[in-house]
Amino acid sequence: MNKEEFRRICAQYCEGGDFALNPDAAFLEDVLDGVMQKQAETGLRYCPCRLTTGDFEKDIDLLCPCFFRAQEKWKTKGECWCSLFVKK
Ligand code: SF4
Repeated sequence: MNKEEFRRICAQYCEGGDFALNPDAAFLEDVLDGVMQKQAETGLRYCPCRLTTGDFEKDIDLLCPCFFRAQEKWKTKGECWCSLFVKK
């Protein structure tokens, strides 16, 4: 999957929700590039700001988009760990 396809998936993921892609365009590009980098390295689109173990069973929660609503940062700041998604 290329970056534009991934961006579309992320935008669709936001539809109907109370969150959106980060409106800071430059920052958004950096995070999307980070996910693409992980994909190039591992074959999977892992979170760009958390470390994987190499064990798929353990790393499955790090596939992007993750279930960020469970994260402390979402509860306190209204952003996913990497700030790819932000509360509206
Ligand atoms: S924290 Fe954000 S960027 Fe990282 S996997 Fe979750 S949704 Fe993706």
